[in-house]
Amino acid sequence: MKSVTILGATGSVGESAFDLLQHEGGADAFRTVALTGGRNIARLAEMARALRAELAVTAWPDLLPDLRDALAGTQTRALAGPEGLAEAAAREADWTLSAIVGAAGLAPGLRVLERGGVLALANKETLVAAGRLVTATSARTGARLLPVDSEHSAIFQLLGHEDRAAIRHISITASGGAFRDWPLERLASATVAQASCHPNWSMGQRITIDSASMFNKALEIIEAHEFFDIPAERIRVLIHPQSIVHAMASFCDGSSTAHLGVPDMRHAIGYALNWPERRALPVETLDLASIGTLTFDRPDEGRWPALRLAREVMAAGGAAGAVFNAAKEQALDDFIAGRLRFTDMAQAVQHALESAAGQGGFARSPATLDEVLDWDRAGRRAAAAWKGRA
Ligand code: NDP
Repeated sequence: MKSVTILGATGSVGESAFDLLQHEGGADAFRTVALTGGRNIARLAEMARALRAELAVTAWPDLLPDLRDALAGTQTRALAGPEGLAEAAAREADWTLSAIVGAAGLAPGLRVLERGGVLALANKETLVAAGRLVTATSARTGARLLPVDSEHSAIFQLLGHEDRAAIRHISITASGGAFRDWPLERLASATVAQASCHPNWSMGQRITIDSASMFNKALEIIEAHEFFDIPAERIRVLIHPQSIVHAMASFCDGSSTAHLGVPDMRHAIGYALNWPERRALPVETLDLASIGTLTFDRPDEGRWPALRLAREVMAAGGAAGAVFNAAKEQALDDFIAGRLRFTDMAQAVQHALESAAGQGGFARSPATLDEVLDWDRAGRRAAAAWKGRA
């Protein structure tokens, strides 16, 4: 029986994973080692009961009594806080999904790699903030990373055993988010509610807003660069409003292959869960005739400065990814709290990158989690300081 752990079970990706596990037989087909969540204790306990999880963890220590109450009468042990998350990640499981949102996913994800486990990675922040550390740790322990971001799952499926030297470029697609067709001058007044509506994908609020600002795609370019070791200049973004083509690989012989599918995260999660096999999933098969038209365009970096910043981060190397991710998270918090305008986010992030460059942040890649977290804190501080100058 395959043993599984879901870090971030109560989120959008976690719910899709839970749905798949239930579809494939639930507690009779899987041994659930651990499920973790944050504030949604009722849902975490419900999932733990359904999957007969051995361990359930909330990220927040003050919610531990509530979790214990909600699990009364079950065999599931309740834990909380960073130690609880570390315990969930450290316990042996055949397959662990990293679906916590933000840099909070970094420490538990690295813990899985430290024990040489299989880590299905939805948390793109892990590779953006700590790409070199992740790669070095995996190489040392024999851990395996599997992509869960749909574009990266698509690239993974496209490349197979292709020779990397034969790749001319990789294109990842972006729907263009909530503001694709807005006049540029309106963007500064975009509200949180407007930015929280994605045209095609149903996702957590933070990634939905990141899609509108294109910071999500910026993170994904860096993630692809780190995951597949593809040079930055060979990674392109295509605006594709229908979200049907997820990625395309173009080869030196002039041919291109593309990965297509309906926008449903259960495909990428299920692919990673069953890899290297391909099994039936409760995902609709694509009907191209009923879609009719697929359109593509080049992104306008004037509208989406996050894409330019991603290229600067890849060119800079060192701790630029950790600073970029942290500054983006801080700017997003500030936008959600009404402290920054939508268009200010990129400026706050740019300021944080300039400040890190001044402190020698791009000289060397962080070699430990503590070093990554030091640069993470510096990035947040600098982004928060930018508002004072606005
Ligand atoms: P959600 O916000 O929906 O869920 C996040 C999960 O993390 C929840 O279980 C939440 O708990 C938990 N969580 C929140 N804060 C913390 C914390 N500080 N420490 C530990 N756990 C925490 O996010 P998504 O599912 O949308 O995204 C998860 C990750 O997957 C992100 O990195 C995102 O970029 C990536 N991703 C998401 C896709 C999607 O379709 N949503 C697609 C591809 C990648 P609770 O809700 O109980 O508070």
